[in-house]
Amino acid sequence: MQDLTHYIDGAHVAGTSGRFADVYNPATGEVQARAPLASTQEVDAAVEIARKAQPAWAATNPQRRARVLMKFVDLLNRDMDKLAEALSREHGKTLPDAAGDVQRGLEVVEYCIGAPQMLKGEYTDSAGPGIDMYSMRQALGVTAGITPFNFPAMIPMWMFAPAIACGNAFILKPSERDPSVPLMLAELMEEAGLPKGILQVVNGDKEAVDALLHNDVVQSIGFVGSTPIAEYIYATGCANGKRVQCFGGAKNHMIIMPDADMNQAADALIGAGYGAAGERCMAISVAVPVGDETADRLIEALVPRIEKLKVGPYTAGNDVDYGPVVTAAAKQNILRLVESGVEQGAKLVVDGRNFSLQGYEDGFFVGPHLFDNVTPDMDIYTQEIFGPVLSTVRAKSYEEAIGLAMDHEYGNGTAIFTRDGDAARDFANRINIGMVGINVPIPVPLAYHTFGGWKKSVFGDLNQHGPDAFKFYTRTKTVTARWPSGIKEGGEFSIPVME
Ligand code: NAD
Repeated sequence: MQDLTHYIDGAHVAGTSGRFADVYNPATGEVQARAPLASTQEVDAAVEIARKAQPAWAATNPQRRARVLMKFVDLLNRDMDKLAEALSREHGKTLPDAAGDVQRGLEVVEYCIGAPQMLKGEYTDSAGPGIDMYSMRQALGVTAGITPFNFPAMIPMWMFAPAIACGNAFILKPSERDPSVPLMLAELMEEAGLPKGILQVVNGDKEAVDALLHNDVVQSIGFVGSTPIAEYIYATGCANGKRVQCFGGAKNHMIIMPDADMNQAADALIGAGYGAAGERCMAISVAVPVGDETADRLIEALVPRIEKLKVGPYTAGNDVDYGPVVTAAAKQNILRLVESGVEQGAKLVVDGRNFSLQGYEDGFFVGPHLFDNVTPDMDIYTQEIFGPVLSTVRAKSYEEAIGLAMDHEYGNGTAIFTRDGDAARDFANRINIGMVGINVPIPVPLAYHTFGGWKKSVFGDLNQHGPDAFKFYTRTKTVTARWPSGIKEGGEFSIPVME
């Protein structure tokens, strides 16, 4: 059994708290490693190292800082296969999907190479008589991020790339379920030239998170994970005077209009609903066909596609559509919700409950499920399932369909499939959800745009990556300067006297 470490001050460091979390191989169900769970003292020691290292990094000119990120991109590409393998082994997602996880983070790093341009301040010459005014964007100091299990490469990079490009030190508290890739990323950043102590990884659970929330040196906290924890971290961090941005859960609706290309919509739903076993915050978990005839056609198109899905371990390479879910507890929770759907009267059109994979009976595999006739009062509709379960809610009209998405407490992503530009435009304008796809099922914005939901999917004012990240990870300082007239008119030869 391998004992994983923290990454502190440029070195792998064993945990000293005596507490550990099991890290599984979800495909086999075996415990393959233990992640140390940091104590408050271990977190505070890392923060102190970061505090000492940060001023020199902030004083390094922005172009030199960006060069570290440039080199880091090369190293990510060099080690892509190794990173993807380590990621799949702990998370369970397929190898191509794991490489995509690294790639989407890498794109944020590429964007942050432009930090010198983003950090330029503003300047007004002669704002008053002899007065100039200028603003600077200065690093916050020590920043921290708490990340979820489902994107162990991309989400840490969403946070640490801009934080570090801006001159901050960053402490990453990754998910205790799959901490190996975050540790590898920290090593690669130092190989790329990052000074020790600027990016540290502290593994842990609530105790480590609370230590970060209550440490006065920590200036900002970024969080991505489930909504109850997002709410807790936002409230506690703000109460402690920190800058906080928290991203929570989701229940993403896809509306299928009667005029949609049904094959295109069904293909899109298969990828968006079942890809990564549904463990994506931008997964589509609710299909809303408009009209019974549309719903019947949709179900008819979906069923054969779902029956063809290949569920298996990442070691099957490209020959698998999705892998196991992350833990036995996650699997039990998904199956519990499926049972509740059946009990509450939804029609289980594709039943994956008895799914079992020969040779991997102890793995955390969940077969694909499709529900029809789901109603908004059911638990499978109100709760985030985070598994390969697609719920169909039949709407009588476009207004009813858009109303469903708008009334749901989550507001991360949504999509409409239609050939009608007017409906699509109306949808994009009225919907109270942060990321909208038009004939695109998973509308994840690219690195140079910003990522963020609305409603209970987000707590805070600024989005992830894009220009917002440079606002989140810096403070603006505005200087108004007037200089007394100098000696430019020549030396004064007679003794000055007061008039
Ligand atoms: P989670 O909330 O269980 O854990 C997220 C992080 O919080 C982990 O680092 C964990 O160690 C820590 N944590 C857990 N319990 C805590 C507690 N009581 N106090 C303090 N910290 C605690 O989430 P998860 O299961 O890792 O990830 C899945 C969730 O993340 C889903 O709800 C998904 O929708 C959401 N998610 C959201 C986005 C987004 O951008 N909105 C992106 C990815 C995932």
